[in-house]
Amino acid sequence: MPIFEYTCLKCAHRFEKLQKSSTVTSTECPECGSLDVRKEFSAFSSAVSSSSAAGCFSGG
Ligand SMILES: [Zn+2]
Repeated sequence: MPIFEYTCLKCAHRFEKLQKSSTVTSTECPECGSLDVRKEFSAFSSAVSSSSAAGCFSGG
């Protein structure tokens, strides 16, 4: 299930919401409850085949 990102135009709060398949539902901001939200088309993070695991460098 794809996750769409929304940005509230009232309080500029950003949140994610699961979008049902072919289902139009009103999305409201969980912060202020405003319906003036804008759907952000965030680039889908395609799983890049990277065998090398990212190391954790802890700055000491
Ligand atoms: Zn809001």
